[in-house]
Amino acid sequence: MNQNMKQKPHTQTAWIYHEEKHYCKDCGWPVIMACCNDETGALFPNDDWIIYCANKGCQNHKGAGVFQDLPRFVASS
Ligand SMILES: [Zn+2]
Repeated sequence: MNQNMKQKPHTQTAWIYHEEKHYCKDCGWPVIMACCNDETGALFPNDDWIIYCANKGCQNHKGAGVFQDLPRFVASS
């Protein structure tokens, strides 16, 4: 088997969520939507996707699960 076919690019599981220019209400940094797996799957067992602030110093960096609506800390311009 071709060695290059074994792994998917990791970048497909998380990205900066900039559709309609969403950002963190508290600090203004971009927010990131990520597929809920591995470590985050243990924290958010009921969610397929989470969204979190890219700012490590922000209270919203711990993230929140995404249901039908975006979490309260996500604002759009
Ligand atoms: Zn923030």
